[in-house]
Amino acid sequence: MCSINRTRIGSSQEPAISHRQRRSIWVHMPDYQFDLEEARRLDSADPLGPLRSDFLLPETSGKSDVYFVGNSLGLQPRKTSEELQRVLDQWQHSAVHGHFEGDPAWLDLPEMVSSRMAPLVGAKPEEVVVMNTLTVNLHLMMATFYQPTETRFRVLMEEHAFPSDHQAVVSHLALRGQPAEAIVSVAPEPGSSLLSTEHILQTIEEHRESLALILLPGVQYYTGQLLEVSLITQKAQEYGIPIGFDLAHAVGNVPLQLNDWGVDFACWCTYKYLNSGPGSLGGCFIHSRHATRRDLPRLAGWWGHERQTRFEMEPDFVPSADAQGWQLSNPPILAMVPICTSLGIFEEAGGMQPLRAKSLRLTDYFRASLEHKLQDRVSVLTPADPEQYGCQLSLEIVTEQPGKTICNRLSRSSVHTDWREPHVIRAAPVPLYNSFQDVHRFVKTLADCLGQ
Ligand SMILES: *Cc1c(COP(=O)(O)O)cnc(C)c1O
Repeated sequence: MCSINRTRIGSSQEPAISHRQRRSIWVHMPDYQFDLEEARRLDSADPLGPLRSDFLLPETSGKSDVYFVGNSLGLQPRKTSEELQRVLDQWQHSAVHGHFEGDPAWLDLPEMVSSRMAPLVGAKPEEVVVMNTLTVNLHLMMATFYQPTETRFRVLMEEHAFPSDHQAVVSHLALRGQPAEAIVSVAPEPGSSLLSTEHILQTIEEHRESLALILLPGVQYYTGQLLEVSLITQKAQEYGIPIGFDLAHAVGNVPLQLNDWGVDFACWCTYKYLNSGPGSLGGCFIHSRHATRRDLPRLAGWWGHERQTRFEMEPDFVPSADAQGWQLSNPPILAMVPICTSLGIFEEAGGMQPLRAKSLRLTDYFRASLEHKLQDRVSVLTPADPEQYGCQLSLEIVTEQPGKTICNRLSRSSVHTDWREPHVIRAAPVPLYNSFQDVHRFVKTLADCLGQ
């Protein structure tokens, strides 16, 4: 079930595109024709095109809908139900022995899933653990990495963070006896929706004596802005401030190098770009330099105990010397199956490099089409620099018509996006299952909806 997959369509051997090359390729838009013929041509030249058939797309009257909401809930892989059924059968036939027998034995599955997820975030296999859900993991990571003192107790985060992140931090501060004023916020400049790296670095600099933790997004959920994780981490480390990232909108969307960048911890969910089903398990990265530190406190449970002696059932806690050491409970095997299936498709694609190459093309074509057809009626909040965006474009309707009405009209025309208060339609063409023809149909339908 969880064996390493099949043939690879893309190649992870492709040389990495340097920053400068990528800018020169993508900043200058090619001369698109913006017709259906061209979208078809782009699709037939797309080496990852066949992956679309690995997914179940929603349909209306026998025709696939345009699904641009993979940033919110990724689509179901065709094989998920079959692989779930296989584990249900294993449960039926082997019952408790399924922990030790079968392919794989349930005892081996969590580490297997975690190590297969590691390449998606640029981690060593032992630096990733799949467990709980995103917000729970943020709390667990704050229990470890937020160690306030008299003078160093502040937490830097964005002013418009995703509500759950904000609520987690505020409640965590209260639990630890810290005032809500301990939060230092970074926000876009007036008149902009985007966070400037310069401003983040300056804020770190300014509060370097009092910051005990930095928590930022990889990709901002509202604007789709990809932050300069590497530079920001470097600055935090200059001053010895622990730094973590919420990668909900970054994982499976953009390539990440968490180990190389030296990030302390990161948390993400697997139901967005990782297509593992509604409310599926979260992922967590803990840098290997922390794995054997005995001075770091944590909330513990028996599944974080080192594996060799876990079943000796001694009361003392000896943590596993890797990210698995932060687990609490006996992991939910059924919930891990869809993650395995999904990771198989990422492996088939050849990993994040080929997916990112297609994603840049797809989103570039999307932006160019919007600018060509709807420039006076739609504005794009997402940065135009390819170093600063992933799949998603955040669209603001600049006509009299309320954006939310347009979003609903799109949905009635079988074109799915999502609405985020106060102003934004988020639309994410995903390289695993979206096509250039989807983009073409999206823009045509949006033009129709605006014309009504
Ligand atoms: C999707 C998302 C969450 C969701 O958290 P759960 O605990 O999985 O419900 C949290 N933070 C951000 C930034 C998100 O985008």
